[in-house]
Amino acid sequence: MSRFLSERLMNVTPYTPGEQPQDQKYIKLNTNESPYPPSPAVLDAVSRAEVEKLRLYSDPACAELLNTAAKHFGLRPSQIMPGNGSDENLFFALRAFCDEEHPLAYADITYGCYGVWCGLMHIPSRIIPLKEDFTLDPTDYYGLGATIVLANPNAPTGLALPRSAIEGILKANPDNVVIVDEAYVDFGGESCVPLIDQYENLLVVQTFSKSRQLAGARLGLAMGNEKLIADLNRVKFSLNPYNINRLTLKAGQAALEDTAYFDTTRAAIVETRGWTKQELEARGFSVLDSRSNFLFASTIRKDGGELYKKLKEKGVLVRHFDAPRIGSWLRITIGTPDEMRALLKALDEILEV
Ligand SMILES: *Cc1c(COP(=O)(O)O)cnc(C)c1O
Repeated sequence: MSRFLSERLMNVTPYTPGEQPQDQKYIKLNTNESPYPPSPAVLDAVSRAEVEKLRLYSDPACAELLNTAAKHFGLRPSQIMPGNGSDENLFFALRAFCDEEHPLAYADITYGCYGVWCGLMHIPSRIIPLKEDFTLDPTDYYGLGATIVLANPNAPTGLALPRSAIEGILKANPDNVVIVDEAYVDFGGESCVPLIDQYENLLVVQTFSKSRQLAGARLGLAMGNEKLIADLNRVKFSLNPYNINRLTLKAGQAALEDTAYFDTTRAAIVETRGWTKQELEARGFSVLDSRSNFLFASTIRKDGGELYKKLKEKGVLVRHFDAPRIGSWLRITIGTPDEMRALLKALDEILEV
């Protein structure tokens, strides 16, 4: 910390991303990326001609991508806002709908960035504990008088709420925005996008990082009532009007259009998740009922931090959170079948000794 840092930032604790080793020696099951490459249509879309156009700014309105997304989701372009990853859209939403007097409510065990952004923007947090079994009681969120953010399916648990439960929360908070972070919805969750025309307080945030193989391109979509979207644009055009680069605009559009590839790859993940869960349970692990592209698992046979370390020594990276309530758990991204077999083999070697 330099002596020049604003006092307002001294107490901010930044997010710690999962490791991104730059050599290829690890089986990488730690940041919920897709084990599959982007759709071949994406490779064609990011053409030499497009690279040559990088001298020009990208379209600040993202018109072509918005038209494609609107068709895909059955919305109007004015109901959608692209972000530089869903992280940026979530940040814009907190900037727009929270401040020192308007807190943000979220679960004690959920995506870590919500709390980090509250710190950065001096937004008070209302932290609402999940139940003992890590499920969320929707009535805990009724009439809170706070902006609400829910990851559904949740991370790192992978557990999902049905759409009807979110609808209850929307109805019970008509004067507050409810942000539903659907980063993992394509792996078995129920999306709230169909509720957008009914609830003016609903903002749905999705990402291309998990189910569309574009984590490195940085693209997400926020979807909601057009007035909420106008509010997000007010923040975007006050910060970074060209927030989505040219190559990402093309890549995202191609990925959205290739629905066949999207369906094949997410079905593969769901299938691999099913048998990996069984294999882990056969080895005595407790594994939550995941609707995401990862499993949250623990075993009384070894401490979570220890297991993480031993797996890393054997070349398998998973995510361990040194945090209250979940210290004995590991979050394991679903990779290819071969990668999961390597994980299981490593676990057998570690747990046998
Ligand atoms: C991965 C993730 C994000 C961030 O996604 P990006 O689009 O890559 O910024 C947001 N929310 C949750 C719950 C996530 O798991």
